[in-house]
Amino acid sequence: MTVSSDVRRITDTMAAFIGHGAKNLPDDVLKALETLRSKEDDPLALEIYDLMFRNLKLARELDRPTCQDTGFLQFWIRCGSGFPFIADLEEALTQAVIEATASTPLRSNVVETFDENNTGNNTGTGAPTFWWDIVPGWDGCEIYTYMAGGGCSLPGHAMVLMPGQGYEAAVRFVLDRMTSYGLNACPPLFVGVGIGNSAETAALNAKKALMRPIGSHNENEKAAAMEKLLEDGINAIGFGPQGMGGRYSVTGVNVVSTARHPACMGIAVTVGCWSHRRGCIVFDRDLNYEVRTHSGFSAEYSSHDSGSDQSSSFGKAGAAND
Ligand code: SF4
Repeated sequence: MTVSSDVRRITDTMAAFIGHGAKNLPDDVLKALETLRSKEDDPLALEIYDLMFRNLKLARELDRPTCQDTGFLQFWIRCGSGFPFIADLEEALTQAVIEATASTPLRSNVVETFDENNTGNNTGTGAPTFWWDIVPGWDGCEIYTYMAGGGCSLPGHAMVLMPGQGYEAAVRFVLDRMTSYGLNACPPLFVGVGIGNSAETAALNAKKALMRPIGSHNENEKAAAMEKLLEDGINAIGFGPQGMGGRYSVTGVNVVSTARHPACMGIAVTVGCWSHRRGCIVFDRDLNYEVRTHSGFSAEYSSHDSGSDQSSSFGKAGAAND
């Protein structure tokens, strides 16, 4: 198989995975929504959860996205230094976004800043977004996909706290943001909190926090305690599903931190909505893949003329169930 046909395999798989992620929520998000519904007793909240699950069922049956806002595509790539296609990935993923936009279809959500024109295919200057981490000595590649909707991106915020303000101020920062902007993000919210040396490191940590599974906990006991504190605090706001009131406001709160200057604490928050569309797929050097987020995914090639052997079957995702 030539290099170009390998790159085509990546593009085809990722276009299918992006489309699947637009139409099917990740397993952990579904489970979290079911759990919240089972603990809810507010009649309006129960009605709204039922509408959400009906929406998800119809999305599967009608083969349509779960929300009309299919977001701005962002990729966090944890790539082994020995992955053979490292140099091709950005081009392959950009092409996958273009093809998924047509085949899914996805709403065209990329507007060139200052020019104010919609590019029509969800790509543009710096779009989609790529964040890279290189993993020395590995020959595989882990790709997180995220569809950043407008509403769920709105509460995002980052700042650097003054010296001595400490962790109490970090908690207040997050709660202030949730009480003022959380409603914009179609609760129940999945809240990512980042702490680091500066505004941009905190912001990227917050986004990475949104990629961690719901229900996971920070390995540091104090950070895990902050997750619980924030979860309880945001639940106490009483958003309920779609902000119409209820006992719970969040599917979870994840904190990711990195070391910082002793005088500075960068703090950031970013939010996923009830339709939290993130995926994780891992390729080995032969392009076998494993999907970690969606048990129902199997790559189905679209009908475009790719020039590749489209009869090949190389996936090893969990059993298809839809
Ligand atoms: S916040 Fe989420 S569910 Fe609400 S409109 Fe935006 S993408 Fe859709």
